[in-house]
Amino acid sequence: MTGATRGIGHAIAVRFAKEGCNVAFCGRTRNDKMVAVEEELAAMGVKAKGYAADVANYDSAQAFVKEVLADFGKVDILINNAGITDDSAMKRMTEEQFDRVVGTNLKSVFCMTKAIQPSMWKQGYGSIVNIGSVVGLAGNYNQANYAASKAGIIGLSKSCAKEFAARNIRVNVLCPGFVETEMTADIPKELMDTWTSRIPMKRAGTPDEVAQCCVFLASDMSSYITSVVLPMCGGMEDA
Ligand code: NDP
Repeated sequence: MTGATRGIGHAIAVRFAKEGCNVAFCGRTRNDKMVAVEEELAAMGVKAKGYAADVANYDSAQAFVKEVLADFGKVDILINNAGITDDSAMKRMTEEQFDRVVGTNLKSVFCMTKAIQPSMWKQGYGSIVNIGSVVGLAGNYNQANYAASKAGIIGLSKSCAKEFAARNIRVNVLCPGFVETEMTADIPKELMDTWTSRIPMKRAGTPDEVAQCCVFLASDMSSYITSVVLPMCGGMEDA
C-alpha cells in the first residue's frame, strides 16, 4: 500500500495487520516514523516492511513494487492511499500547485497500477482499492486541483476495472468525506465546526472507519464487486 506513515494509511495498515495480512507500505523517506510503523505492525505478528518511494514517480513506483515482490513473493491487494492537498482559489492557483497535486494523487495511481498489474494478471486475482474523496464527486471551494485528481481516479479505476475483470482483478474506489488526520490539522477550528455541522451524522469520520471499508473492498467479502465508487461520508449531500 502507499502512504502508511500516518493518517488514514497508517490506520489501514494497522487494520489489515489485525486481519492477519502481511503489509508492505511506502512513504517518501525512510525515517523514524516509517521504522515505528514497521515495528508496530511486526508486533502484531505479521511481516511488515516500509519502503522509501515517491509513487508519483514512475521509476520509483516500479522499483518499489519490484522490491516488494522480491521480499514478499506476491501481492494480493494494492491500496493506493498516498495523497496531498495544496489548496487555493482557482483565481490564484498556480500551474505548479495543479501539477503537484494531480501528479501525486492521480499519477501515483497510474504508476502503481502499471507496476502491480503484470503480477496480478499472472496470478489471476487481485484487489485494488483506490482512495478517492467526496471532493472528487462534488467539487469543493479552493480544491480544483484536488477535486480533479480525485475525479480522475474514478475514471482510471473504472477503466481498469473493465480491463482487468476477466482476470479476476477487482478495482474499486473508496471516497471518504471529512476525516480528521494531519491533512486536515491546519484547517481552522471554526471552519471544521461549520463543516461538521453540515454532515448529517454531525461528526468527522475516523481513519479506522476508512480502514474497515478498505478491508471490505479488498477482501473476498466483496468478491463480486468491481468498478464501484463507495462514498463514506456520514450522509453528506452531493456524495
Ligand atoms: P496524510 O497527509 O495524513 O498522509 C498522507 C500519506 O501519503 C503519508 O503517509 C505520506 O507519507 C504519503 N505520501 C504523500 N505523498 C507521497 C508520495 N509522493 N509517495 C509516497 N507516499 C506519499 O493524509 P490522509 O491520511 O488524510 O489522507 C490519505 C488519503 O485519503 C489521501 O489520498 C487523501 O486524499 C484521502 N482523503 C483524506 C480525507 C481527509 O479528510 N483526511 C478525506 C478524503 C480523502 P510521507 O509524508 O512519509 O511521504
